[in-house]
Amino acid sequence: MGAVTKIILASICVAFLAAKWTSPRFDADSLKGARVLVTGASTGIGEQMAYHYARFGAKIVITARREKVLQQVVEKCLSLGAQKAFYIAADMANEADPDKVVDYALEKLGGLDYLVLNHIGPSPFSMWKGDVDHTKWLMKVNFFSYIEMAWKALPSLEQNKGSLVVVSSLLGKITSPFVAPYSSTKFALNGFFGSLRHELAMKKSNVSISVCTLGLIDTDSAMEKVRGVTDVPAYPATDAALNIIITGATRQPELFYPWFTYFIAITKDWFPSVTDYIIQNSYNYIP
Ligand code: NDP
Repeated sequence: MGAVTKIILASICVAFLAAKWTSPRFDADSLKGARVLVTGASTGIGEQMAYHYARFGAKIVITARREKVLQQVVEKCLSLGAQKAFYIAADMANEADPDKVVDYALEKLGGLDYLVLNHIGPSPFSMWKGDVDHTKWLMKVNFFSYIEMAWKALPSLEQNKGSLVVVSSLLGKITSPFVAPYSSTKFALNGFFGSLRHELAMKKSNVSISVCTLGLIDTDSAMEKVRGVTDVPAYPATDAALNIIITGATRQPELFYPWFTYFIAITKDWFPSVTDYIIQNSYNYIP
């Protein structure tokens, strides 16, 4: 490795550590009684976030499509210490459901301090075969419902110096094969909420926006897709969930979890052909 490359890598590490050390301290008590709406909370990272918020003594509304599973998650949240826990079954592909969910949360909790947008619709892990309808549907679930809910919740978040937390992906920062529709929805989220963050700052709004960039996380749905296809390491959903919550509570604009996703996101354009080579060769694919 050349001296220049070493200096660049060392500078990135120092910048990253400095950012970590100077970031505000997380006060767990700040979440006691906080009014939180978490989407996609019947399973995976969303379910783990619901349990963490419950342990911190928050008041929670969770949503997803499967009512029976939501009911079980709510029961567990109450047993873990949630001050209140409710669920509402909703399908984010339905026109009316994003607004309906926010209205329900506002009514049950009397306002919102946190809106945590996390749900995703199922999408195949395969080469693009021209299914435009699926991509339009996925945009509805993974993108349009997010911006509708954010807009609906903003007045209450404004009143309460609240936080908007958007769960995104490294695949919203870099491109990769087999995930064209999914990746499109995550790039759209990053663009939209990055722009909205500027606008809120220019309007001197007191609402923070945290966009969370995640690498591979060991949820059932993700593991099912990548098993045997890649050796990229998967990180624990419960730890990812806690990091997302802390990022929202400390009003940080961005989370990169695990840490090296930050490194990938900022170095990807330095040597594009090397990046492409690494990405394409990180999958076991035989044409
Ligand atoms: P899961 O697939 O485990 O969970 C998705 C959640 O969304 C479930 O609660 C599901 O519940 C709900 N959901 C699915 N379709 C709809 C719909 N049409 N309307 C409403 N809710 C729906 O996802 P993960 O936990 O793996 O991912 C959570 C977040 O983290 C996502 O934003 C994802 O992009 C991001 N992320 C995850 C990574 C990973 O490797 N796991 C990597 C990078 C980012 P139900 O079926 O009951 O509706």
